[in-house]
Amino acid sequence: MSELESLYQEVILDHNRRPRNFKVLESANRKAEGFNPLCGDRVTIYLEVDDEFVKDVAFQGSGCAISMASSSIMTESLKGKSLVEVERLWTTFHDIVTGESSESSGQTDVGKLAVFGGLSKYPVRVKCATLTWHTLLAALHETQQAVSSE
Ligand code: ZN
Repeated sequence: MSELESLYQEVILDHNRRPRNFKVLESANRKAEGFNPLCGDRVTIYLEVDDEFVKDVAFQGSGCAISMASSSIMTESLKGKSLVEVERLWTTFHDIVTGESSESSGQTDVGKLAVFGGLSKYPVRVKCATLTWHTLLAALHETQQAVSSE
């Protein structure tokens, strides 16, 4: 394992141990639930949005370290972002975890999301990382159906 990969793993483990924004968001005006049957990951996303911006975001759930860290890092990354930026971050994140692009194209600052770059070698684990994003988008778009990664 390279130095960079072990650093990334440290970040993931830290977020799993101490997930950020892990709570019920009382001010939420959107909410969605997601489930990844392959791994048993569950997540509930709470969003407070207006027409343009993510004012606040939080999550609750249980699952593997990847899924917990992904939710934690995602919620950190999205606060204060415009809805357009959120969609752009999701596209970039998807490219990173599926190996379409190893780094940010330079257009978008992916920040800590880069720690999931090693996942493209483990396709099954990609679903653990993307579940929380699919759930977020369902909340944003007010999709009523329960989200499954399948
Ligand atoms: Zn998982």
